[in-house]
Amino acid sequence: MVEIINIAGTVTDSIVDGPGIRYSIFAQGCSHNCLGCHNPQTHEFGTGKDISVSQLFSDIQKNPLVRGVTFSGGDPFFQGKGFAQLAALLHTKRYEVACYTGFTWEHLVALGSPEQQELLSNLDILVDGPFLIMERNLDLLFRGSENQRIINVPASLQALAKQNGTDMNPKGFSKTPVPSPILCTEKRWVG
Ligand code: SF4
Repeated sequence: MVEIINIAGTVTDSIVDGPGIRYSIFAQGCSHNCLGCHNPQTHEFGTGKDISVSQLFSDIQKNPLVRGVTFSGGDPFFQGKGFAQLAALLHTKRYEVACYTGFTWEHLVALGSPEQQELLSNLDILVDGPFLIMERNLDLLFRGSENQRIINVPASLQALAKQNGTDMNPKGFSKTPVPSPILCTEKRWVG
């Protein structure tokens, strides 16, 4: 079934939500309540615009210069099913899919819902953790505070699967202790 996502908005040619020209989608809804959040209007759930995954997928493909898509918010992990479906579609067209979340990698791996873990397993890049005003650093590329990490998701899931003694199946990975994620080292992401 095609999912509906409730969004606060989109930017069709963003240059601030990751490297290159990207299509950014801002999910409506977030309960992390980070002090100093720049998008408080995205906190209330269900008050944005409903849009289907297929509509978003079609809009993204209109601009041939866009090769990366960023899910931001709000927090897309509160609508894991729809964003997972969109990420999977985007990978069929070789887009790079990045996502911001106020959850940590460790939380999503150990305690995330099946929908949240499905979204995680469909990402290339995860920027994790809440915005912490005490750790704010304006010099950071694509992050707001020092605690946030730019994570290479496929490599981290591969390492997790290895630790769990399974084949490279990134799903159903709630084992503890959760190993630290493998950080992205790509210059275009980390400078
Ligand atoms: S996770 Fe993001 S949108 Fe949610 S409160 Fe924190 S900074 Fe704001």
